[in-house]
Amino acid sequence: MSVRTGKAGATPAGGASMKLVDLHTHSLLSDGLYLPMELARRAECRGYRWLAITDHVDASNLERVIPEVLKAAAEINRRSAGFRVIPGAEVTHAPAGSIAGLVDAARRLGARLVLVHGETLAEPVVPGTNRAAIEAGPDILAHPGLIDAADYRRAAEKGVRLEISARKGHCLANGHLVQLWRRHGGRLVIDTDGHQEDDLFTEARYLGVGRGAGLTEPEVRAILKESLAFAAGRDKTA
Ligand SMILES: [Zn+2]
Ligand SMILES: [Zn+2]
Repeated sequence: MSVRTGKAGATPAGGASMKLVDLHTHSLLSDGLYLPMELARRAECRGYRWLAITDHVDASNLERVIPEVLKAAAEINRRSAGFRVIPGAEVTHAPAGSIAGLVDAARRLGARLVLVHGETLAEPVVPGTNRAAIEAGPDILAHPGLIDAADYRRAAEKGVRLEISARKGHCLANGHLVQLWRRHGGRLVIDTDGHQEDDLFTEARYLGVGRGAGLTEPEVRAILKESLAFAAGRDKTA
């Protein structure tokens, strides 16, 4: 369960617990450890309000994985109103020239949240992926690594959210991203990129990842609040 601080009804800035949101996780439909149902149950027990399941896709598996994530989300959401799954996808290691087509295809197949796997310091993602991803207009550019200022500004202009990642390796450039945010604005999200139980947020972990990236606690809580509103908008039946 999430760490509870402050008294019920206090404002978020006063330290009251808030429901959590995670816009980036993986089930065993790609390389996560659990079936969507188990991943969802574990997230629910940690105090999540919304969990996006965003399994890895490229041209080879997009048409199989997205309908499967949709089916799982429909099943989970049938039994729960207070906790809901948003079916999504993460376009991963696609050639730059294919990213726009894959983002569109993912949306056509019903993904309500589309991420692109950015130029993390942890993997040899092809240079130019960040820029191609931003121009494709996904919801989130995940773990964009040492994104340059021009690409950052373009993302902010296009309303593409940039991701602070809790994931080992991807998290190495979180401080860089926060520096760009302070200079250029735009919207940040904080996600786990979780593949198993220990990766998932508690409130303390959410705050820790944000503060470790150089944000203040009120800034982290403002990002959480904005991400909850964004998730509500993506969950059209909420
Ligand atoms: Zn990724
Ligand atoms: Zn991921």
